[in-house]
Amino acid sequence: MATIKLEIVTAEKVIYSDDVSEVVVWGIEGQMGILPHHAPLATILRPGDLLIKKDNEEEYFFASGGFLEVTADKIIILADACERAEEIDIARAEEAKRRAEATLREQPSSVDMAATEAALRRSLVRLKVAEKRRTRRTSRSNT
Ligand code: ATP
Repeated sequence: MATIKLEIVTAEKVIYSDDVSEVVVWGIEGQMGILPHHAPLATILRPGDLLIKKDNEEEYFFASGGFLEVTADKIIILADACERAEEIDIARAEEAKRRAEATLREQPSSVDMAATEAALRRSLVRLKVAEKRRTRRTSRSNT
């Protein structure tokens, strides 16, 4: 099976570095899959789930946005924040969601509403990605 090197990095650390058969991300125009031999590309990433396919296994991540570049031999993702589904702290995401919802309800004049909406979106996607991890575990335990 054809593969391509994928690197996901944040300002803090290398999140992922391995050969993969596909990565699916949220680009500016929607969800897109990048396969080996993809044409060179540079695009902004939107907050969303990020799926890595490798050796017939699928692994879900959350990416809070960033930048993706495809070169002849590599896919590089510079993410603002990125966590494996298994690493998502559900209580923290629920708390972030509650905080953002309360701020949007109360609309204090001192708060940047666009930033609050973005924080709400991050929390919702984190919870969605965490749910995928649980779904996967459930389906595995049934087999
Ligand atoms: P919070 O309000 O809880 O800090 P946030 O959306 O503002 O959430 P980010 O700015 O996206 O947080 O990320 C800051 C750092 O915290 C990153 O390193 C990110 O990976 C980590 N992080 C944020 N929320 C979670 C979470 N629910 N589970 C695990 N790591 C998280």
